[in-house]
Amino acid sequence: MNPRVLIVDDDTALLEALPEALRLRMNGIEIDTAETALDALDRIREIDYDAVVSDIKLPGMDGLALLTEIKDVRPGMPTLLITGHGEHDLAVQALRGGAYDFVQKPIDRDYFVRSLERAIQMRRLDRQIGEQRVELERHARVLHHVDRGVFLVDDAGVIRFWNPAAKAIIGFDADSVLGHRAEEVLPGWEAIGPEVPVTTEPGPGSIAPKTLPLEIEDQELWLSISGVEFEDGVVYAFRNLTEERALDELKSDFIATVSHELRTPLAAIYGCAQTLRRRDIELAGDDEQELLEVISQESERLTRIVGDILLANQIEAGRLKFKQREVDLAVIAQEAIDAIRAALAARDDIDFELAAPESMVVYGDGDKLRQVLLNLLDNAVKYSPAGGRIEVFLEPHGTGVRMNVRDEGIGIPDGELKRIFGKFYRVDPQQIRGVGGTGLGLYICRELVRRMDGRLSVTSAEGKGSTFVVDLPLRQIRPPEQAVVSQSA
Ligand code: ADP
Repeated sequence: MNPRVLIVDDDTALLEALPEALRLRMNGIEIDTAETALDALDRIREIDYDAVVSDIKLPGMDGLALLTEIKDVRPGMPTLLITGHGEHDLAVQALRGGAYDFVQKPIDRDYFVRSLERAIQMRRLDRQIGEQRVELERHARVLHHVDRGVFLVDDAGVIRFWNPAAKAIIGFDADSVLGHRAEEVLPGWEAIGPEVPVTTEPGPGSIAPKTLPLEIEDQELWLSISGVEFEDGVVYAFRNLTEERALDELKSDFIATVSHELRTPLAAIYGCAQTLRRRDIELAGDDEQELLEVISQESERLTRIVGDILLANQIEAGRLKFKQREVDLAVIAQEAIDAIRAALAARDDIDFELAAPESMVVYGDGDKLRQVLLNLLDNAVKYSPAGGRIEVFLEPHGTGVRMNVRDEGIGIPDGELKRIFGKFYRVDPQQIRGVGGTGLGLYICRELVRRMDGRLSVTSAEGKGSTFVVDLPLRQIRPPEQAVVSQSA
């Protein structure tokens, strides 16, 4: 595009001579003229000139005032002012006011042309920079909206870009990382930085990201991360794999525990069956009964484990049906205690106690409530290696009912209290304390209670015991007249 300038002068002779001189010396230049500042301003508002040349002395609004207006309307437009001979003060004022240059009369045409050429050149560069900035801003905006964390580390190791997804995943504000060395602000970066796969050719499948940990506030944050190198540094893109990884770990823990859990009763059943089959040893009547008892108990244990796994799956898939009807919690509690007592006859070091009103009728799924209670009682026994008392007490609480299961067992460390309700979570997965389990019991309990609009919580003191609390809302309880109707039906 040809450069286009505006010349403003009330001296019509000059207004004719100057463009002619410029056209001769500057190839392709387009020149508009204006006799007054106001006329000039109208044109400037309309056309983005490469430069303006104005006499400083104009009738009405003078060149300096015009300069101020131009700064306002088109801040980047270079303005050259023509001053009278010896008007140094005015020239200085013009420069202070932001004029690009001044030319004294009589005009030195070579100087004038050179200055104007420079002004036009500067204006072009300015525009290019502006366009590039807009482009860069657009790129930055795009990166602001990708769901991957993106950050840029320059050749000096300093973070120069940090998108909102990076903030959301890692938790650090852009302000706290920008301008800092990655090693200083990203804990663990010193170790993992060199491990991150970096390519110079981005594109699908060009490089496989690696899963690496950052240590943020004592917690490992697993990132699937890769980088792309360019002239000024490396752009890293990542996503958060912490949950997937935790799930993977959980799965392998689960497989280990479940295989162990299944193998133990299977081994016992196999051993007993083999012994019963042997013809070479004479078993006393009691021995035989005992072996059959072990087979029966261990089969029950197997059934329970498999049942828990299936139930957890059903819960997860949302396929569990609840049969809501009127049930007496006091009766359920007594039945559960009796069942546990019978199943764990060997644990005669434990006293069970039930404190409940004669009846406490709620509207819910009796089987599910029994299952919750059995699980909690089973745990209470399992985690009370030294015996003690296990209490179940039922009470009205707030607008609902509360069922407490208290033991005097090993208790639960504070840091574990929240996690024990997680699927497959066991405080002691290696079973150092020798207590088996799948880590599904409390998960199932909490989910069942939740689906009955209730809440399962725990308080515990390590070494002293734990109390598991089931709160059920009153709306579980049916109004008496409805209860009568359902009884007579
Ligand atoms: P499991 O008993 O099969 O391991 P649960 O989901 O029932 O799985 O319990 C999760 C963890 O919570 C257990 O591994 C145990 O460490 C802890 N826990 C549960 N109940 C008690 C309790 N009454 N006393 C102490 N610890 C308990």
